[in-house]
Amino acid sequence: MLYDTQFQRPKDVPEVLSKLSALSERTGPLRLMEICGTHTMAIAKTGLKSLLPEAVTLISGPGCPVCVTPAGEMDAVLTLSGQPGVTVATYGDLLRVPGSRKGISLLRQKALGASVEAVYSPMDALAFADAHPEREVVFVGVGFETTAPGTAACLLEAARKEVFNFSVFCLLKRTEPALRTLVTAPDAAVNGFLCPGHVAAITGAESFAFLPQEYGLPAVVSGFEAADLVYSVLELVRMAADGKAELKNEYVRLVKPEGNPAALAMMHQVFEPCTCHWRGLGEVKGGGMAIRSEYERFDAGKRFGIRIEETEEIPGCSCAEIIRGVKAPQECPLFGSVCTPADPVGPCMVSSEGACAAAWKYRTVR
Ligand code: SF4
Repeated sequence: MLYDTQFQRPKDVPEVLSKLSALSERTGPLRLMEICGTHTMAIAKTGLKSLLPEAVTLISGPGCPVCVTPAGEMDAVLTLSGQPGVTVATYGDLLRVPGSRKGISLLRQKALGASVEAVYSPMDALAFADAHPEREVVFVGVGFETTAPGTAACLLEAARKEVFNFSVFCLLKRTEPALRTLVTAPDAAVNGFLCPGHVAAITGAESFAFLPQEYGLPAVVSGFEAADLVYSVLELVRMAADGKAELKNEYVRLVKPEGNPAALAMMHQVFEPCTCHWRGLGEVKGGGMAIRSEYERFDAGKRFGIRIEETEEIPGCSCAEIIRGVKAPQECPLFGSVCTPADPVGPCMVSSEGACAAAWKYRTVR
């Protein structure tokens, strides 16, 4: 408990902020990107942006799994929910996400009679399938390397128990290829990364070494408490001031250099890299996870012949630019007027980890 309290209410914040201020005089303007929805929310909640020197701007990137799921994938999920005998089970956040048409979501489909279940984990969906053999239960798996091992474990359990009315529509995504796409985009404007502690707990801190080694961008694997964030930003600003680009692991209490080998092995046993679309980034080679052919019996994409069409974004919604970090939520013309958490237009306002939802909830500065 004491440990958590120390990280939640660090006593040395004033000293750290004054160090940041001094260092920022040597850096010029810096744009530091967080690539984890939990970081986005924690940064907004702590008010960190308002405490930083003017030269240091924190921007959100493609870190919210719901937000990066493109409209075409959501349209496919919505079509699936209309099939007779099918129950779609997924995380609660995804229920309110529209496809390419405003207001058409799984929640609305459910209100119109579709069988849609909100679950906390894929294992809940498997249990539902086991208890309802008359239904075809499809778990919609979204997320990054953080949720992939749990989805893999669930699929292996379904195979072991021979629950053949259960399948997974795999929309899982891989972080590294997306970051490579982001930093090489023509409009990329990032000077350093706060790397996601959750993903790194699985893939290892070293999985982010390519950022400094290949792109000359400082990177710090960070935890989620106030102290984690402020120390991580200090490290990034210090490296920028010293003209260095290295990988640091601030979250050593959880993240090992090599990650979690057991979780990685399970993930690789069930999934293989595939090309897929990310909202905001477009087609990302190797940016998705596909279920290996050995487990295709549990692959809803193949079982139901699901086609994912490339569709237009919702008119006026700037989620794509926000996910790339080239726009702040407050720069979207719909922010706070047409688009609010009560009546969201895009996924960045729907998701509890979305940049627009965070900016609205905590009234953050840019
Ligand atoms: Fe999309 Fe709403 Fe965010 Fe604008 S404020 S980018 S419409 S989610």
